[in-house]
Amino acid sequence: MITILVPVKDEEEGIAPFVSRVSVILDALNEPEGWEILFVDDGSRDRTLAEVAVQHARDPRVRCISLSRNFGKEAALSAGLDHAAGRAVIPLDVDLQDPPEVIADMVRSWREGFDVVYGVRRNRESDSLPKRLTADLYYRAHNYLSADKIPEHAGDFRLLDRKVVDVIRMMPERNRFMKGLFAWAGFHQTAVYYDRAEREVGTTKFNYWKLWTLALDGITSGSTLPLRVWSYLGGIVAIGTLFYALYLVLRTIVHGGDVPGYPSLMVAILFFGGVQLISLGVLGEYVGRILVETKHRPIYVVRETIGVPIQPVTR
Ligand code: UDP
Ligand code: MG
Repeated sequence: MITILVPVKDEEEGIAPFVSRVSVILDALNEPEGWEILFVDDGSRDRTLAEVAVQHARDPRVRCISLSRNFGKEAALSAGLDHAAGRAVIPLDVDLQDPPEVIADMVRSWREGFDVVYGVRRNRESDSLPKRLTADLYYRAHNYLSADKIPEHAGDFRLLDRKVVDVIRMMPERNRFMKGLFAWAGFHQTAVYYDRAEREVGTTKFNYWKLWTLALDGITSGSTLPLRVWSYLGGIVAIGTLFYALYLVLRTIVHGGDVPGYPSLMVAILFFGGVQLISLGVLGEYVGRILVETKHRPIYVVRETIGVPIQPVTR
């Protein structure tokens, strides 16, 4: 069976067009064990869940788990992976920005033996220029800092074999930067390329602040370099200071003491004050996340399901 996993938050107009377009494509796959579309209602406050129930009544292969509040897209994806029945799972946004026709290409590669088939956006013209630039910068920074390289311009739209899904399900962390987890898991991976369209209905749920938070989650969960860099920086500054002190002592011996030096003192104090605050801030980012992890709270809470048994969480 193939599971299409769709996190939805306030997408009432999107449900019906999504189901009608995607089910045609899924039928054409001729997968012997069939397919399911698994919506994860991530605390919607509109008629999203009711719309899904209507679709389920028409076709029981449309199923849903509804979370008790908005937990965010990464948690919603985790909930979906826990409840998906498929031998392959494909997360897909409901807004149809990622063309569902690509599913056929992904399934072809999967049948050839690949475990992960990720979709790569060939162009990002549908995104604004600042979004493209910051996305570009982020992929570079992440892959420079982190040992688990994430493929550039690949979103969550990808096919995951059951083997990979089970690995992700076992991962205990609360901070679920999914792209990082997918990269960490490894397995035989390949790419399919596609053009990304504009959102068909509704509006984006991600503002720049949310994207920044996601970026911090990604980097802090993938790399400890920002923590370690300070000792090297401190070492370099200390060695430099040693030479400067030597020079000052020699100069005082030769020329005698002089009082001026306010500007250089001020610059040094302000500069190192700034550096220390930054390094404290970086520590804070990591310590805060350690606190979240040690609380061992569930990643999401299921309120009700339509057509799916609730899975006990064992993490
Ligand atoms: N989404 C979600 N929970 C959230 C935010 C978004 O489940 O807290 C869903 C949303 O309904 C959509 C998908 O995640 O199906 C991608 O969101 P969106 O299209 O707004 O993101 P963008 O494509 O603009 O990055
Ligand atoms: Mg979108």
